[in-house]
Amino acid sequence: MSLKQILSDWPDAPIVMCKGCGKKIIFGRLQDGKQVPLDPSPPVYMLMRFRDDKEQWVYRADKAGTVFVSHFATCPKANDF
Ligand SMILES: [Zn+2]
Repeated sequence: MSLKQILSDWPDAPIVMCKGCGKKIIFGRLQDGKQVPLDPSPPVYMLMRFRDDKEQWVYRADKAGTVFVSHFATCPKANDF
């Protein structure tokens, strides 16, 4: 999901600028109440393995829906936090 889509679908989404790199990120809340910075830009894929009709393993990648990467994984300044 792109930032534009997020703003269109969820206009009140908590989008802020990362204090380290300046990139726009969105905060999500984990079940334990902690917040996690999420990167809406990198595409995320689900990887599924199945056998084709020749009994060969096939690894299929499908773009995931509303799934984000932790900004801690993509921020060049992550070690500063
Ligand atoms: Zn950052």
